[in-house]
Amino acid sequence: MSAGTARDDDAALADRLAARIRAHGPVGVDAWMAACLGDPRHGYYAGARKGAGPIGAAGDFVTAPEVSQVFGELLGAWAAATWELAGSPSPVRLVELGPGRGTLMADALRATARPAPGFHRALDLHLVEVNPALRAAQARAIGRQATWHASIDDLPAGPAIVLANEFLDALPVRQLVFRAGAWRERMVDLDAAGRFAFRDGQVVEAPALEPGQEHAREGDVVEMPEAARAAVAAIAGRIAREGGAALFVDYGPMASGIGDTLQGMRRHALADPLERPGETDLTVHVDLAAMARAARRAGAQAWGPVPQGVFLPRLGLHARAAALARGATPAQREALRIACARLIGDAEMGSLFKAMAVGAPGLPVPPGFDATPPSG
Ligand code: SAH
Repeated sequence: MSAGTARDDDAALADRLAARIRAHGPVGVDAWMAACLGDPRHGYYAGARKGAGPIGAAGDFVTAPEVSQVFGELLGAWAAATWELAGSPSPVRLVELGPGRGTLMADALRATARPAPGFHRALDLHLVEVNPALRAAQARAIGRQATWHASIDDLPAGPAIVLANEFLDALPVRQLVFRAGAWRERMVDLDAAGRFAFRDGQVVEAPALEPGQEHAREGDVVEMPEAARAAVAAIAGRIAREGGAALFVDYGPMASGIGDTLQGMRRHALADPLERPGETDLTVHVDLAAMARAARRAGAQAWGPVPQGVFLPRLGLHARAAALARGATPAQREALRIACARLIGDAEMGSLFKAMAVGAPGLPVPPGFDATPPSG
């Protein structure tokens, strides 16, 4: 990106992106996503926007921890149980990547305080978050000492238990489009009317495709999640060296495949990913099978993906919901029933969302996963 003057920096992100394209030509989909989400002044996540923030009923989208406290409670139980499987290292870094409003971690800590006091004594909390307003919300929600980091690379060494819900889907991907027998970089350009539009870029020779992406037809798109792969490899590498485990939950397919999944979201409605840059949330589906392979290449074990609708019941969703229902009013019980159905229902989050775990060599199978690794 050009250095820019102070005046350039103040211009709306759309104006700056248009100026950049006029001056230097079209940008790759990865650079587009990186600017729209990570621009320090006006990026969707990195910029300090006013208002309710992205997550929750008043924001742009709702995530599993915001649907029900049960989600964070079960992930907390997973963290404590997996810490024991790892030999109860003390201290242990309890890390969350992209903690949003801090709801998941607050629920996880509250639910484990009594059943897992040893885990609580050992843990040292580290949160990776770029958004200043969300950092403040996390501090309020969690109400205990924590250290914030802008990047995974800044996390201190040592055994770690890492949680990440809907983090990887916010990291930029490259897109390639298959045209006239070759893969080409998919770019964002300006059309004749001055609007942002996709167009084909340079041929990419021998792209590193995943199994399941080899047979392409004219116009097909594949996504190369290089930033997510680097994040998972960094976490897996440190876990392989220092011990511990990680749990990634995100939406995406069971196996690698072909397709354009870039999606814009504004006020709970789908939005054009090229419209209103910086005000529109951009996400892609996460290929957790490819992430598991990246984790193994980095020296760790990996399990999954397992659909959320299978994973959460295995962690004890029904027993947890029954325990909460005992002290609840009829209206609260009904709300709880609806929330749990939303988390695990096939037509809702149960089959689209998947869980994948990473562990140090020698770690037994963590709760919720199967011993046999998936093929491919
Ligand atoms: N896990 C939360 C929030 C998901 S939204 C939940 O389930 O509700 C994505 C989160 O990742 C937000 O907190 C966002 O600010 C953060 N984030 C996005 N890109 C990031 C990056 N590159 N580095 C660190 N945090 C990032």
